[in-house]
Amino acid sequence: MKVAAVVVAGGSGIRAGGEVPKQYQNIGGKPVIWWTLKAFVDHPGVAVVQPVIGAGHEVHYDACAGGLGCLPPVTGGSTRQESCRIGVEALEAHRPDAVLIHDAARPLVSRDLISHIIAALHNYKGVIPAMPILETIKRAPGGLIESTIDRSAMWTAQTPQGFRFEPILRAHREAAAARATSLTDDAAIAERAGIPVSIIAGRPENRKITTAEDLADADQFVTLKLMGGLSDVRIGHGIDVHAFVPGDHVTLCGVRIPHTSRLEGHSDADAALHALTDAILGAIGEGDIGTHFPPSDPKWKGAHSAMFVRKAMDLLTARGGRIANADISILCQSPRITPYVGKMKDTVAELLDIPAGRVAIKATTTERLGFVGREEGLLAHATVLVRLPP
Ligand code: MG
Repeated sequence: MKVAAVVVAGGSGIRAGGEVPKQYQNIGGKPVIWWTLKAFVDHPGVAVVQPVIGAGHEVHYDACAGGLGCLPPVTGGSTRQESCRIGVEALEAHRPDAVLIHDAARPLVSRDLISHIIAALHNYKGVIPAMPILETIKRAPGGLIESTIDRSAMWTAQTPQGFRFEPILRAHREAAAARATSLTDDAAIAERAGIPVSIIAGRPENRKITTAEDLADADQFVTLKLMGGLSDVRIGHGIDVHAFVPGDHVTLCGVRIPHTSRLEGHSDADAALHALTDAILGAIGEGDIGTHFPPSDPKWKGAHSAMFVRKAMDLLTARGGRIANADISILCQSPRITPYVGKMKDTVAELLDIPAGRVAIKATTTERLGFVGREEGLLAHATVLVRLPP
């Protein structure tokens, strides 16, 4: 059975606050939509993933999800229902047997839940995950209780909602043609068309992110999940020195800083990134920067030092490890580092695949003492905390 997925991210997502819509805000260091799309792209049972995004969100989307391997995003409509229909229509050319329709705002959907929905589609035309209602439900128009509702047969619907492709495409077209536009999930579209839809157990963490609190909870959940199993905690330290020679700029943490000197070295002489590379290699016992990139090799002449950090990160991730945080100190009389710290943090955070809040960059002079004080050169220290599987 060829299964496709539609991920709807068309909403304005403003209830969660923040400068960008909630689906583009970060949890565990990555945008919400990145986690959601990744769950489907990585699932072996899902052949293609069709994102549906809001008008004007293209820049946000390209910045965070452009490289994930989804189909090019389509622009949604004015309601969730319309966005879902547009997503399903866009899949017609791919001729799937079934489609899973999922909210981008449910990034914690598990691989197992996706598998269970796909498995159930072998027996049912429609299947959705849902949660039983555990609390007593009151009907209270205007705040005064009128009646108590029997909750025993009631469920709250989640996504991904799975359907055989042809029937749900037809049902969506019929609902649109009949101007039945107030249906809040795809199961309601199916219901309207008489397609039987069954229920399987949903997951509590698969709830929809709506408020700033939901975002904070999801952030905590993802961070704990990422770090929780990595119980082998290691510290790494790196140090590097480069001499000043006449020039017009230095490069530190990948950022170009105008100066009356440059740093001498074989690569771009980014002492901060060299110290960082050594810190990572040190934490995992993989030698040092010179082991992997001998300065005698002309290959590294003028190289951007980000590649050294990437190599160290490749060795770390190959072992299933992650960086918890990085702390970099730069010792120099000049240039002034502080105005560039924000940009440097962003660069390092991206290289280490962690939020910028887990990167510290500090600068200090040596009160004119020593070679740093005489402005003969610059010194950088880096410390990282690394977490590895046991
Ligand atoms: Mg160096």
